[in-house]
Amino acid sequence: MAKEVLYSSTRGAKGQIKASEAILRGLATDGGLYVPDHIPQLEKSLRDISQMSYQEVAFEVMKLLLTDYTEEELKYCISHAYDSKFDTEEIAPMAEADGAYYLELYHGATIAFKDMALSILPYLMTTAAKKNNVKNEIVILTATSGDTGKAALAGFADVPGTKIIVFYPKHGVSPIQEQQMVTQKGDNTCVIGIEGNFDDAQTGVKKIFTDPELAKELDEKGFQFSSANSINIGRLVPQIVYYVFAYTRLLKEGRIADKETINVVVPTGNFGNILAAYYAKNMGVPIAKLICASNSNKVLFDFFQTGEYDRNRDFVLTASPSMDILISSNLERLIYHIAGDNADKDAEYMRQLTSEGKYEITDEMRSKLTDFFGGFATEEETFATIKNVFEKTGYLMDTHTAVASSVYSKYVKETGDKAVTVIASTASPFKFTRSVMNALGKGDDSKDDFALADELSAVSGVEIPEAVSSIRTAEIRHKTVVDKADMQKAVLDFLKK
Ligand SMILES: *Cc1c(COP(=O)(O)O)cnc(C)c1O
Repeated sequence: MAKEVLYSSTRGAKGQIKASEAILRGLATDGGLYVPDHIPQLEKSLRDISQMSYQEVAFEVMKLLLTDYTEEELKYCISHAYDSKFDTEEIAPMAEADGAYYLELYHGATIAFKDMALSILPYLMTTAAKKNNVKNEIVILTATSGDTGKAALAGFADVPGTKIIVFYPKHGVSPIQEQQMVTQKGDNTCVIGIEGNFDDAQTGVKKIFTDPELAKELDEKGFQFSSANSINIGRLVPQIVYYVFAYTRLLKEGRIADKETINVVVPTGNFGNILAAYYAKNMGVPIAKLICASNSNKVLFDFFQTGEYDRNRDFVLTASPSMDILISSNLERLIYHIAGDNADKDAEYMRQLTSEGKYEITDEMRSKLTDFFGGFATEEETFATIKNVFEKTGYLMDTHTAVASSVYSKYVKETGDKAVTVIASTASPFKFTRSVMNALGKGDDSKDDFALADELSAVSGVEIPEAVSSIRTAEIRHKTVVDKADMQKAVLDFLKK
């Protein structure tokens, strides 16, 4: 039996807790994120794992990090998550185009990669509640830049013992993203637009979470908060799975040799997806470079260049809205690790981030970042990538994936590194139809997004995904919009009902 993995706060709050407790709590009481006390190594060889199905790989990986779940519990969660909600049995298929492998993480219910973790989180969480004798109803509180919200809503809708409240920036998501959320069914769901951007939504949610008096008040009413955001370790762990899966698929298909290293490119916002790749590497997957791709909100690119994280800059709305983020929450976990699992240091940096909007890491810490390569793509580069790759190969990608693809091209030009490369493809092009059509030079301002989806389908020969066609005429159920200062009140109003 492997050693139990325990979790503690990146900011030093006392005590270590089990995985199921960390999943229930989401965020530590001191505002820190839960991190594992050690990173376990894969037990089976990558060759052996290459013979497994996605569900089997998921079990192989998740059992190592979620050590207090029984085999039966984990297998129950996995089999209910990765089923026919996905439109392909492979769950995460790979497509080769223009010299790279696109790992398509968008075949779930809401056609973005958030489904990879959010289809299992409700099962992990309700199982955790049972294991820990929780009697309260669990209230999932989530800030979304567009994709998390819908994926979380889809995952938690009508799950007994839970309620879910989603805040999104009213003017910061695509029309299809908004339509997906505001038509969400389920009596336990609540969707609220805020007058503010994603960082405002995320900061507001964190504040509500860490308010001890509010927690007490809710406890008396039979509620407790948890988070479906990528700060929850229950989001991160399932995301490690597909990097193991991708590597072993390449191995199985003879595209790489045993122990050959690959690079991965991840279109990054909150730093959750790429952090999962970092964990996968540390668990034994031969990944050389972790290429972190940003859009014009290139705070991470600057950080990897200079060692200074500085959010004091204008927030830019781009065609890849799920990456329009200036405070990448999950970076805190990496900071903690490269500081030598040092919570005091991490807490100090995070204090500086709150008070001054920036912090600078030490040279010693920087020396531990050599596996990372930061790049960014402008809007023009992103659009050109969609067009060029489509015209050259017939492969169509969404704007977020195109940021990664564009950064990858620049990386190869700059370094000459020809290692086999996996690009995380994080959304279906149909989720960002208007931008994709604009990129192809076929945009039309007089048409709505659904009409454009019809045209995109005709142009690409790809069928409109069910996730888009089913919301076309659905009833709008959520209409509330509040100021960013009134988020707490909105939460209490919903829970009063
Ligand atoms: C959330 C999201 C991202 C960014 O992922 P992080 O884990 O927040 O870095 C990229 N692309 C799409 C389509 C997303 O939904």
